[in-house]
Amino acid sequence: MQRCDVLIVGGGAAGLFCALRLADLGVSNYLLLERNDRVGKKLSATGNGQGNVSNIHMGPEHYFSQAEAPQLAKILGDFDEKCLAEYFASLGGILISDDVGRVYPASRQASSVTDLFRFALGGGDVFRLGEKVLSAERRQNGFVVRSEKEEYVARALVLACGGKASPHFGADGGGYALAKAFGHSVTPLAPAIVRLKTEPAAIRGLKGIRCDCNVVLVRPGKPGGKDSVFANTLTRGDVLFTENGVSGDAAFRLSSRVREGDELAINFLPGAGAEKIARLLAAKAERYPQMRAEDLLRGVVHSAVGRAALRRCNISPEERAEKIGAKLAQLAHSLTWYTLPVTGTDGFANAQVTRGGIPLSELNDCLMSRKTAGLFFAGEILDVDGECGGYNLQWAFSSAAAAAKGVAEWL
Ligand SMILES: Cc1cc2nc3c(=O)[nH]c(=O)nc-3n(C[C@H](O)[C@H](O)[C@H](O)COP(=O)(O)OP(=O)(O)OC[C@H]3O[C@@H](n4cnc5c(N)ncnc54)[C@H](O)[C@@H]3O)c2cc1C
Repeated sequence: MQRCDVLIVGGGAAGLFCALRLADLGVSNYLLLERNDRVGKKLSATGNGQGNVSNIHMGPEHYFSQAEAPQLAKILGDFDEKCLAEYFASLGGILISDDVGRVYPASRQASSVTDLFRFALGGGDVFRLGEKVLSAERRQNGFVVRSEKEEYVARALVLACGGKASPHFGADGGGYALAKAFGHSVTPLAPAIVRLKTEPAAIRGLKGIRCDCNVVLVRPGKPGGKDSVFANTLTRGDVLFTENGVSGDAAFRLSSRVREGDELAINFLPGAGAEKIARLLAAKAERYPQMRAEDLLRGVVHSAVGRAALRRCNISPEERAEKIGAKLAQLAHSLTWYTLPVTGTDGFANAQVTRGGIPLSELNDCLMSRKTAGLFFAGEILDVDGECGGYNLQWAFSSAAAAAKGVAEWL
């Protein structure tokens, strides 16, 4: 049996950051248990390998909780993106932001973030790798934690074992069972920031195309009409077409709100309405009556998008402009309201985050359990998920900073 002051379960973004902050606060007698053979496996894969660690537009409005989360704004404010940048600098790293506010390590390598953390933690003496925690309970002498290999006793326990998203990186939802054993509830779980599936026929010829679009969710049958735009879902960003679905930040943003049976309505020309496009096409058709229909759309949208829209309107790409005048309004509509049926999402297997988790209302301002003193939480295991764009890693860091402060005070 091994004894220590603090046990952290999970060596992801939250667990590693909690360890760093504990060390800063003078708490040195801690161990971090990680089931993988290395720490930060998911962290090292974030942001397409570039590590989008935060966002300069940080704020609670970019986060979602199923239950009340009264401490959210304070926790984010107490350790925000500016604190993170200063902290990185103190570790010898540099953070930079792109033109839409996403913050990355200047190296543009997510793995370099994990490395910085590992070096700062002294190379890993405090890590116990390949140790999956199976159970945890509170006894008189402290928290008794059993892994596959060892039994540990600690005065404080931090559960930073992630959610259910992308279990191949290590977090498979087992953390919820550990929390439930202490009487905690778990709000309904759903995959978020995940690819949306559609009928392959609806996106034929578009695979690999990335467009900057306006996208809105349409929920047939909602009050207000057969096809009614789902409240507050209009979003602008990248849509990337895959074999049988769409990804990209616009699709990701809608992914946690979507239900099977919904439709995505895509405007390939954000900022331009159908009437304006119809007028432009009509003027072009008048000027070049012999132009092929496909060429009429050149310079307007990507040629693959143009062909898909023509197909929807039953216009042959070879048709001459003078012959399709009557269909130009329909064509313009198709470019600005290109609907796709949503047949599902890629699920937890490929989601970036988990919606739902341990409700913040069961924890105090430092994320200590109101049910079991000395038990803390940090990161994705909590009922907080952020939008795509660095908000989830910032939550992992902010919540870990709060938990570490709480642990130091509690000890
Ligand atoms: C492909 C991908 C890309 C992403 N890109 C971004 C991005 O660019 N920006 C952003 O903000 N967010 C991004 N995210 C989300 C972000 O990675 C997560 O929000 C964040 O990693 C959560 O940190 P965490 O420490 O709470 O959980 P995790 O990173 O999942 O870490 C939990 C750790 O606990 C370990 N563990 C679990 N159970 C046990 C157990 N019983 N015993 C021992 N160890 C255990 C796991 O192995 C894991 O290492 C991305 C996610 C994915 C999957």
